[in-house]
Amino acid sequence: MNYFIEVIVPLSLPKTFTYKVSEAEYYFIKKGMRIAVPFGKNKVYTALVIDLHQNPPTLYEAKEIHQILDEKPIVNELQIKHWFWIASYYMCNIGDVYRGALPSALVLESETIITLQTATVVNQTELSDDEFLIYEALQDQSSLKIQNIVAILNKKTVFPVIQKLLTKGIISLQEEVQEEYKPKFVKYIRLHQDYQEENKLVELLDNLKSDKRKNLVLQYFQLQAQQKNPISIKQLTETANASSSIVKSLVEKNIFEEYHIQQDRVNFDKNKTENQLDLSQAQQTAFDEIEKSFTKKEVCLLHGVTSSGKTEIYTKLIDTYNKEGKQVLYLLPEIALTTQLVSRLTQYFGNKVGVFHSKYNNNERVEVWQNVLQNSEKAQIVIGARSALFLPFSNLGLIIVDEEHEATFKQHDPAPRYHARDSAIVLANSHQAKVLLGSATPSIETYYNATSGKFGLVYLKERFGKVQMPDIELVDLKDSYFRKKMKGHFSLTLIEQITEAFSNGEQVILFQNRRGFSPVIECLTCGHVPQCPQCDVSLTFHKFKYQLRCHYCGHSIAKPTNCHACSSVDLETRGFGTEQIELELAELFPTKNIKRMDQDTTRGKYSFEKIIDGFKNREIDVLVGTQMLAKGLDFDNVSLVGVMNADNMLYHPDFRAFERSYQMLTQVSGRAGRSEKRGKVVIQTYNPLHNVIQQVSKNDYEGMYKEQLYERQIYKYPPFFRLIRLTLKHRDFEKLKEGSMWLYQVLQQNLAVPVLGPEEPAIGRIRNEYIRTIMVKIPNETNLQNTKKTIQKVLNSFDTVVQYRAIKVSVNVDFY
Ligand code: ADP
Ligand code: ZN
Ligand code: ZN
Repeated sequence: MNYFIEVIVPLSLPKTFTYKVSEAEYYFIKKGMRIAVPFGKNKVYTALVIDLHQNPPTLYEAKEIHQILDEKPIVNELQIKHWFWIASYYMCNIGDVYRGALPSALVLESETIITLQTATVVNQTELSDDEFLIYEALQDQSSLKIQNIVAILNKKTVFPVIQKLLTKGIISLQEEVQEEYKPKFVKYIRLHQDYQEENKLVELLDNLKSDKRKNLVLQYFQLQAQQKNPISIKQLTETANASSSIVKSLVEKNIFEEYHIQQDRVNFDKNKTENQLDLSQAQQTAFDEIEKSFTKKEVCLLHGVTSSGKTEIYTKLIDTYNKEGKQVLYLLPEIALTTQLVSRLTQYFGNKVGVFHSKYNNNERVEVWQNVLQNSEKAQIVIGARSALFLPFSNLGLIIVDEEHEATFKQHDPAPRYHARDSAIVLANSHQAKVLLGSATPSIETYYNATSGKFGLVYLKERFGKVQMPDIELVDLKDSYFRKKMKGHFSLTLIEQITEAFSNGEQVILFQNRRGFSPVIECLTCGHVPQCPQCDVSLTFHKFKYQLRCHYCGHSIAKPTNCHACSSVDLETRGFGTEQIELELAELFPTKNIKRMDQDTTRGKYSFEKIIDGFKNREIDVLVGTQMLAKGLDFDNVSLVGVMNADNMLYHPDFRAFERSYQMLTQVSGRAGRSEKRGKVVIQTYNPLHNVIQQVSKNDYEGMYKEQLYERQIYKYPPFFRLIRLTLKHRDFEKLKEGSMWLYQVLQQNLAVPVLGPEEPAIGRIRNEYIRTIMVKIPNETNLQNTKKTIQKVLNSFDTVVQYRAIKVSVNVDFY
């Protein structure tokens, strides 16, 4: 009798593989266990068992396995089924899905590099012999590969030892960084209650003997008169030129008192107990409607305006499912996954909350994986970004997809190029769980599904606490420039509004779209703009580092003093980015604290949160930022939002440009005035009469939707057509051109649906590879599965054409 197992290997290969096992192994192994298997010449990979059988492979001789890595499955059958769905729907290899789904610490392979975790204190007596040998080797060598360890231990079965060392925190896999972030608590200072009345003041000053102390108190009053913001100890000591010990002595004398400002994303009245959640009338109605909708439909859209209190509704809903003993998954875009939100949910659900973040290190991710796998108390509610979808849930009751319109739910590279919202719906279906999609600006696709009856639809039209929607004012840039009502990129209207906000002690957010307006250096003599040598883009100018840099590959050079083409020294900066605005703002308001939030200032693990905390703590007066500002942030002291230029988003060559502009502008506007006071939004634009701009200013989502839907139908786009985009890449321009033409023609001959291209994308070359794209548009009436099969067949034959074999082709289904 022969015994075989069928496994997935973590490589981009379309097939599963068959290995030979002994009878004893056969009866021990279960689907979902990991097995170390030999592959290729002398590589070892962590494969995953998906089946056990007695059929020898026909095309090759089955090899024997190295060893069994698990005692119990670490992946369940629902997941495996879901992976195969993803591979088939998104046209990628099952190996890609496996690789993308598991935390890398669980998929060791020959290439994995292992290093010592220096921060861990190791008790050597508690190490096994094998563990010790590896530990010792890492004292001399900074890193080891699996084959080194095989040599050191003189055996093939090394994965379990490595796994143990990982769990003990002694070693780590190379890519991970250890860093911890605690929200910063700034100390503020105010006058003690006893001295807050006017007449006490004279008495206070009389009582103070030391001049230094007197001076400090006087400085405090001066600051207080100038600004409404809280006064930090740092600011006070700096203005008074005093040491912090004087402040301390005044605190000890109960003249001053220290305090902190810290706000959670969701604020509750202090006197409410943690276990009751009071929804407003409108929230309660929405909640009831959602529950009702779930009795009839699997998916429900909660279309609630910004600041309507969607989070509270989610919380209450989570509570319901949690009480029924069901697991809950709460998905949101990476960037909206803030510590504030997590701490809010932990306050309510305690340690039942697990967090799964791509910035988490391997150990943390494996821990969450294990907790979910065991259906442990600690992971009944999992909050996470896109990839949390792959956790080993066995008993899901509810999936929430917050900010469902966000493009970041779609993975671009590498494969699997899945959409987390859509994949969540499929996953929920196999668990018989419900899905709640939430957004203030739903995607056209989702709203179409909701209005056509496929999904349930619940509205929440008022803001929490009956706060009014912000007042949106449009400033015509053309007219303002013409009438000289501009200072730099700021209209006088915007400057006025900023001044007013400051005088009320309120904060300001300024939004500048990242794309299209990055500053470049242009030669005034010959018009030359320095380009990246590896990509077809202009280098952007970074003032602070005095560098020109490529946003695509990171290539950078010092700012040139003369033109590389004609040697002229007449160089000028064109375009404006967030840096430019920050500089102009600093000139307009020299005493204000201005911070910038964009890709450059938020690279580190927690730099994003540090800026957010600073802003929440009111140390920062103005936040200048890119799209990052639009995502689910809640600041209660922001009365003004300024959009520097609304137009550049509108004119993107992308069928979603208008939808996205509407979403972006509405979301950014939503940051204004979230407390009692009505917020103000100033949008600067060259096209104040443009339909999308008008729709934003009138909060007219329906109008935007209807217009866009009409366009989508006419121009053959979702939700009426599905898009599959093929991207071809190669270093040789001519070969790529030929190859993409070949592919285009064969597709067109074989498909009865529109095929467009081959097109050179806006950026035609990245890292020295030329790029061409082909788009296939599949009407809803056409069988999607068959069309995909045909495309796959054509791709397979493309692969057999010798001269095109080196051209890389990637497939993006439901292109976003
Ligand atoms: P959304 O996600 O819809 O934009 P949030 O959930 O951030 O809105 O809520 C907006 C504000 O209203 C938050 O500051 C939140 O603390 C507050 N809020 C919402 N619901 C309640 C409630 N039921 N009780 C107290 N405060 C609430
Ligand atoms: Zn020149
Ligand atoms: Zn580049």
